[in-house]
Amino acid sequence: MVYIFVCIDFDRDYALPIKNSKHAISYPLKEQPKEILKDPKLSASLKGTLDCFEPFINCLTDFNLPSTFYFEARSLKLLKETNSKYVSLLKKQIFEHGVHGFDHEDLTGEETGVSLNRDEETHIIKRAQAEIESILDTKVYGFRAPYMKNTANTFDILNELNIRYDSSLYVEAEAAIKPYKINGNLMEFPVIKTPKQSIMKGMYTYLWPLFEGKRKEEDVISNYLQLVKNSQHDDSYISINLHSWHFSYNISQGRYLSKMEIQENVRIFENLISKLQETGKITLSTPKKWLEER
Ligand SMILES: [Zn+2]
Repeated sequence: MVYIFVCIDFDRDYALPIKNSKHAISYPLKEQPKEILKDPKLSASLKGTLDCFEPFINCLTDFNLPSTFYFEARSLKLLKETNSKYVSLLKKQIFEHGVHGFDHEDLTGEETGVSLNRDEETHIIKRAQAEIESILDTKVYGFRAPYMKNTANTFDILNELNIRYDSSLYVEAEAAIKPYKINGNLMEFPVIKTPKQSIMKGMYTYLWPLFEGKRKEEDVISNYLQLVKNSQHDDSYISINLHSWHFSYNISQGRYLSKMEIQENVRIFENLISKLQETGKITLSTPKKWLEER
């Protein structure tokens, strides 16, 4: 059996790092005046996530699909302030909750030029963890670094904060993989990227190119089926990763999508899950469940 983890980075519409700013800004807001972009709250747009929230959550619930959300705390806070009824939907048993920064900070400072010392990084992750746990009345289990960029201190900090696993690294593989211990008790659940020379042609297991129209539905599906087919080891997993806004915002076209286009993107996602289920070789799960069962 291959485990399939559906993982959603719940963040502002396409988080963009900007120079000299700890917080990210939403790409569609990038031309806004400086005073607005200086404010971490005002420079976050949740429109994309909100536009597709109902069809996407309904899809996950209808499939009874265990899923992991890595929350940018700011976006979750905005969701609570603007659409509190949606927050209760995220509390369902099938959903697992993780941290994805407070304001989608570039922890490394490589993109922003703002480097963070260990205390500052701890403060950000701890504050985000507390906010998410309080809003969702939950216990946070996992962490995914914004931009998939961790520092030399990140794993130590996660251990200190009793977070059980990280999922911020890529690993090259042509089949399902297994998690491993990375620091003390902290486990790492890497994200697969397939080798360029493989039949799957350098695909990251993020659905990004699919929603950007850079890869076709049938190619993406056949790549995931190939990954399952190549997998021999029990307990191994493949994560399918996506962003909470990507059903409804196209970056290369710089536009929010229509209701019909959103429905179509959700349909493609459903089709991918159905095709994987039809193999009879997969179990839908989450990293937390995977760890608890062992
Ligand atoms: Zn993100």
